[in-house]
Amino acid sequence: MTLTKDVFSFIQNADSEIYDILMREVSREDQTLELIASENFVSYPVLEMAGGVMTNKYAEGYPGARYYGGCEHVDEAENLARDRAKALFNCEYANVQPHSGSQANMAALMTFLNTGDTIMGLDLAHGGHLTHGSPVNFSGQLYNVVSYQVDRDTGRVDFDSVREMAKTHKPKLIICGGSAYPRHIEFEQFRAIADEIGAFLMADIAHPAGLVATGLHPSPMPYCDVVTTTTHKTLRGPRGGMIMMGRNVENPWGKVAPKSGRTKMISELLDSTVMPGIQGGPLMHIIAAKAIAFGEALKPEFKSYAQQIVDNAQVMAEALLEKDYHLVSGGTDTHVILIDLSNKGVTGKASEKALERAGITVNKNMVPFDERSPFVTSGMRVGTPAITTRGMGVDEMRTIVDLIDRVVSDIDNEVTIEQVKSEVQSLCNSFPLYRELHD
Ligand SMILES: *Cc1c(COP(=O)(O)O)cnc(C)c1O
Repeated sequence: MTLTKDVFSFIQNADSEIYDILMREVSREDQTLELIASENFVSYPVLEMAGGVMTNKYAEGYPGARYYGGCEHVDEAENLARDRAKALFNCEYANVQPHSGSQANMAALMTFLNTGDTIMGLDLAHGGHLTHGSPVNFSGQLYNVVSYQVDRDTGRVDFDSVREMAKTHKPKLIICGGSAYPRHIEFEQFRAIADEIGAFLMADIAHPAGLVATGLHPSPMPYCDVVTTTTHKTLRGPRGGMIMMGRNVENPWGKVAPKSGRTKMISELLDSTVMPGIQGGPLMHIIAAKAIAFGEALKPEFKSYAQQIVDNAQVMAEALLEKDYHLVSGGTDTHVILIDLSNKGVTGKASEKALERAGITVNKNMVPFDERSPFVTSGMRVGTPAITTRGMGVDEMRTIVDLIDRVVSDIDNEVTIEQVKSEVQSLCNSFPLYRELHD
């Protein structure tokens, strides 16, 4: 396959060493089934903008108030990205500068908290994220962390225990959302608990953002004080982060603006935590690419895409259940499926490795109450955003479950792995990536 070859002719001529590496990655993305739930394939316009000239521009500050000259056009791009984000998520405030989801979380936490304050987030081993209080992350090092878990039987957040822990530990801020939670995030129930103890509520919608934007997942905006996300998962934009607020209000700590003496809005505090608090110059090429992706997500076609992600995940979950795979929470409401492999006699690690050799990319994942280490795990996480972007539908989902099952049920069988690999390649060839570059 001669995918996108002449598109990269300048790289090819300038540096054949990195060109060859790039071509191997182009081919890997094209020839394998991408089932990592946090990945996606951006549109070609997003890709082009992310590789464009705005990478050259320094623009510390915000539109209309930069520390550098020559920002008139990047200002337009950032304003467009912010306006589209606000329209997409129906919110009053958006900061599109965080370089990643982790930076968005760092800025939100540092705005609402002082070092040493108590936070409560979903346990990493139960589907949370590093930035929700893991001891190896800044969040676990700067704050006192209490982690809540899911219920052993239902696989869903155990709200009785969340309430009890909240009352005992009085966290100043509760984080809801995670990286391996197959169900809708229960914003309303978290709000009720936050209100009972007077805590702030932060939602991290890094995973379901594209579903939230299209109304296929409830919106956090009416319930949460602050909302963070990545832009590159179901939202299908360039790699990056964003901070939002449904309503922008005055800060409750009484911080005032030095000259006017008026109370600052929380938006102003968030903006200054992002820059100069934790970041320098924004990545203007990425912000412009975010504007394109948000524009795409505002179109009706994106809603059909998001619906197909969910339909595909549901069919995949049903097909897995029929083959006696145990799914955490018994299924999915979203794009994520978390498979507990304990009854299959294989580990997450061994399954990931065997599937990778067959051209199917997944990640091993802890399941709630896992007895294995994070390096081995008893589970794996799969997701449908990337294969849905390629145009695959429910028929292909059933095929893919068959392919997965053949490998996982006979994990050391080289012949099976080779056969599955060639079937994976022909499936991929029927759904080429970046079609516009072939025609
Ligand atoms: C992916 C993810 C992030 C972090 O995103 P990065 O861009 O990798 O820093 C944060 N929170 C959750 C819940 C995520 O799934």
